[in-house]
Amino acid sequence: MIVKPRIRGFICTTAHPTGCAAHVAEQIDWVKGSPDLAKEGFKNVLVLGCSGGYGLSSRIVAAFGAGANTLGVSFEKAPSETKTASAGWYNNKALETEAAQQGLYAKTIDGDAFSDAVREEVIETIRQDLGEIDLIVYSLASPVRTNPVTGEVHRSSIKPLGEVLDIKTVHVEKGEVSNVSLEPATQQEASDTVKVMGGEDWEIWIDALLEAEVLSPGVKTVAYTYIGSELTWPIYWEGTLGLAKADLDRASQAIAEKLTPLEGDARVAVLKAIVSQASAAIPVVPLYAALLFRVMKDQGTHEQCIEHIHRLFATQLEAGCEMRLDESGRIRLDDLELADAVQQEVKERWPVVTTENLSELGDLAGFRLDFLKIFGFGLEGVDYDAEVDPMRLGTE
Ligand code: NAD
Repeated sequence: MIVKPRIRGFICTTAHPTGCAAHVAEQIDWVKGSPDLAKEGFKNVLVLGCSGGYGLSSRIVAAFGAGANTLGVSFEKAPSETKTASAGWYNNKALETEAAQQGLYAKTIDGDAFSDAVREEVIETIRQDLGEIDLIVYSLASPVRTNPVTGEVHRSSIKPLGEVLDIKTVHVEKGEVSNVSLEPATQQEASDTVKVMGGEDWEIWIDALLEAEVLSPGVKTVAYTYIGSELTWPIYWEGTLGLAKADLDRASQAIAEKLTPLEGDARVAVLKAIVSQASAAIPVVPLYAALLFRVMKDQGTHEQCIEHIHRLFATQLEAGCEMRLDESGRIRLDDLELADAVQQEVKERWPVVTTENLSELGDLAGFRLDFLKIFGFGLEGVDYDAEVDPMRLGTE
């Protein structure tokens, strides 16, 4: 079949097998062209949420930058003869194929990371294949979680807290800047979001791995968060998602204590805004990101997802490196996004940006290209008019 992007709101329902492989290869090549990381502390790496966005980049940096064995967990849709897989399914295959060619261990377990069954499968795989894990990256972003203890289904909401929020946003496909009115979350919606995107599941994972005695001395775990600019605080940091992320901070301290006997550590890392399946769904963020990307590109400080994660590993996670922590003990990698020179400029543009001047003040084109690339479209060197088999990457 010939695969074209089919965009519905903030998701694309098709994914291009060859394009996804090219997107993964582009990131692998970037890492291979950067200085190698020390192997110590990155021998066996578990990535929860490994198939896209920050989790995929983390796995690529661990594997191709430090030569790590990687075990990944994701929740992706397999292809059929008539339908493409989800992008993450192709990304996993592409990563595994490339790793195998370089003699690197890379296995992916596709299933619900919130379930005990997947946890047990992961532990069994570690026992059989790796022995122990020395880094766990927690990079799940999900709209729903079934509580493994109660069986209750929790759905996350992306809403403000307290009162109705009137705020600027952009319709990414149409490029129209407008004001939206966002209803505040109910108490239930707020607590459900904490259940899905907070730290409870991260804690359950570490408890299970500890109990199974599959963590190495000095083990580290890192979970990703976003704080961002005051411009997005009303919908993010001060909204339901911020509440969930505050719970991640709580969990980080609880986990760090549990890891003390192993001389291990648990940290939340604050990362920059990028385009991912998860972030594209947040109102306001695409407009902020379009302005941010323009300013950071003009100032020469813009980082792609892979560059950002490589900096995290090289400067904050590598053994013996000097960590830059904030007053809450979080790793701050959002320093470039939050630099005064960047934020001042973005804040000046925010009140004056309109549909008409967005292409001048912002980088909506860059945002759109990053969005397409998530699904394997818009990559150089890929023939998008060629027939592809949705069941295969085309590189196997
Ligand atoms: P993403 O949508 O690109 O990736 C999410 C991953 O989670 C995928 O691998 C997906 O398969 C997996 N996943 C979802 N539900 C699952 C389930 N039930 N079981 C197993 N796997 C599941 O998301 P992302 O933007 O890379 O976000 C990852 C983390 O980084 C989140 O905690 C997010 O808050 C944080 N973060 C994102 C940004 C950003 O701008 N995108 C910025 C800072 C921090």
